[in-house]
Amino acid sequence: MAEKFDVIVIGGGPGGYVAAIRAAQLGLKTACIDSYSGKDGKASPGGTCLNVGCIPSKALLDSSKHFHHVQHEYAAHGIHVKEAAIDVPTMLARKDGVVKKLTAGVTQLLKGNKVTFYHGTGTLAGSRQVTVSPVDGGTALQLSANNVILASGSVPIEIPNVAFDGEYIVDNVGALDFDHAPKTLGVIGAGVIGLELGSVWNRLGSEVTLLEALPDFLALADRDIAKLAEREFKKQGLDIRLSTRVKQAAVKKKKVVVTIETADGESELSFDRLLVSVGRKPYTEGLLADDSGVRLTERGQIEVDEQSRTSAPGVWAIGDCVRGPMLAHKASEEGVAVAELIAGKPAHIHFETVPWVVYTDPEIAWVGRTEKELKDAGIEYRSGTFPFAANGRALAGGQGAGLVKIMADSETDEILGVHIFGANASELIAECVVAMEFQGSSEDLARIVHAHPTLSEAVHEAAMHVDRRAIHRGN
Ligand code: FAD
Ligand code: NAD
Repeated sequence: MAEKFDVIVIGGGPGGYVAAIRAAQLGLKTACIDSYSGKDGKASPGGTCLNVGCIPSKALLDSSKHFHHVQHEYAAHGIHVKEAAIDVPTMLARKDGVVKKLTAGVTQLLKGNKVTFYHGTGTLAGSRQVTVSPVDGGTALQLSANNVILASGSVPIEIPNVAFDGEYIVDNVGALDFDHAPKTLGVIGAGVIGLELGSVWNRLGSEVTLLEALPDFLALADRDIAKLAEREFKKQGLDIRLSTRVKQAAVKKKKVVVTIETADGESELSFDRLLVSVGRKPYTEGLLADDSGVRLTERGQIEVDEQSRTSAPGVWAIGDCVRGPMLAHKASEEGVAVAELIAGKPAHIHFETVPWVVYTDPEIAWVGRTEKELKDAGIEYRSGTFPFAANGRALAGGQGAGLVKIMADSETDEILGVHIFGANASELIAECVVAMEFQGSSEDLARIVHAHPTLSEAVHEAAMHVDRRAIHRGN
């Protein structure tokens, strides 16, 4: 007989494991099924984010930043280091250690909350019957539940004529594990992964070339911020080539030869390694039996309504496998909301205040709408900016690059968008998200006391500049 649960979650990434924990906290008998195996072949819940995404990329960004600083920043402080060297295997081992600690932590959290965990592939059939096929090849198990949450995540998009081989032509997984800094690294797609992992290897000595199909750099970001960032990243040595289409790539004599097409016609480039980071697509292979009743969209996403309900009764879907931005915090918040809805509580997510962060140096962060989006929607707005070059803490820390930009409704002064390029933008954006969640105005931010000297004073001053009353800049 199939073991019966209140909730079965398929997928143990930041969407799935968070949903499972919240459901269990709410007193629901919960199971979580995840197929991911760590480098040791054992279960490693945490999904893309913990295993091969957010966390390992940030570990390498941090290590490579230290190396870069020793070489290029310390001298200005009067600190002279004779010869800095990078030991890539040690750096990777540290990264793997961080991943192990966090995935083991998720296992403990699931256990502590009495979530039954299965290391296997879950397949949903009609009437919320779920088959678990264990990763170790053991006998399949039959489960059933009143509610099933699908959280199967996403995988990298592969482009025609550029096949991954795991060694020379890689996705994020390969680029997080190069055993040395390749002399030359080509990156297809100057998006979030391309910029973050391109920065890592650039700091460690690789010559990095980013090949971007679109004419605009970071098309999702505000134009002022994107322009500043592009200039800064080029200064850092990233060779960013826009309007460049990749036609094909082939490995020849231990080099990757890439055929590109630009306004000047076709030409070839050669790299030691090639990272393909052109976006991700929802992953639903093996997830749905023919009679599951769950509909997919044309783009292969699981179709859901505003509250994450699929077309099958009692079946929900969250995270990268559904609409909306592919971000870990978005997946987690959906997980919490669905668990609460299942438990009969009210829950709602404000997708318009989901923050974005790109963990380059300086960081890029934003929430709400860009200037172009406001113009396109015909919304009247006022805008205020403040450069980090005029912020005492930023200068004291050698972090004078970048800008805060705030846009507020001309009539009501409600904050409509905040865009930051600067040190610690990932943390600075949080107060702006809070302000927007409370429908705050630029005047609210301007009247709040910000500690001195802090980078957050740049947010404060940008808010004051909306009303042309900033103190530390011309208005
Ligand atoms: P996933 O994390 O992909 O988890 C899905 C899990 O389900 C996986 O473990 C998978 O093996 C499992 N699974 C799939 N099908 C089945 C099945 N049938 N049965 C059992 N298990 C199954 N986002 C951020 O917000 N911040 C960042 O800094 C950030 N950095 C990133 C860096 C990189 C290099 C990458 C690739 C992504 C990054 N992301 C970041 C995106 C983030 O990783 C995803 O948005 C997030 O992991 C999505 O969570 P999820 O739970 O929907 O899916
Ligand atoms: P992305 O969508 O951020 O960037 C892909 C880039 O590739 C785009 O600029 C696109 O125009 C370009 N592109 C597409 N096809 C191309 C082609 N054929 N040739 C050249 N360029 C092409 O995707 P990504 O960098 O692969 O990351 C995937 C997703 O993972 C992100 O969208 C994001 O949701 C998530 N992620 C988030 C973070 C973060 O939050 N810090 C970090 C990494 C990944």
